[in-house]
Amino acid sequence: MDSGLLYVSIPYRTCGHLCCCGCGHEVVTPLSPAQWSITYDGENVSLTPSIGNWALPCRSHYWIHDGRVRWSRRYSAAEIAQNRDRDRRLLARDSEAQARGAGQAASPPAVVALVGQRAGHATLGHRPVEHR
Ligand SMILES: [Zn+2]
Repeated sequence: MDSGLLYVSIPYRTCGHLCCCGCGHEVVTPLSPAQWSITYDGENVSLTPSIGNWALPCRSHYWIHDGRVRWSRRYSAAEIAQNRDRDRRLLARDSEAQARGAGQAASPPAVVALVGQRAGHATLGHRPVEHR
């Protein structure tokens, strides 16, 4: 992966990018209702919610919004634990919902299937250098 690019794979329901702090670690953000979602307005991409790289040495935390990187302050260890807790709960709820809906899984809309033929990417614009 190249830095400053957000890679999107529809078939794998995943986005990937290199950590925006420049440390070079790959950051993979699965797309699902309990995890991340992307919006693309034809020019810029946004990824929500924020990206907290708690598992990386840099522990960077930022938003990708309208093709820009917006830095967040660093979270304390307690806040990180709280966030991880919430993520786990959401994820558990999501997989339960998926298990319940497994018997009646709808086929994805045709447009998504078309778009999903290959992974695309969008530029992220300027990369700020300092952490806040
Ligand atoms: Zn980093």
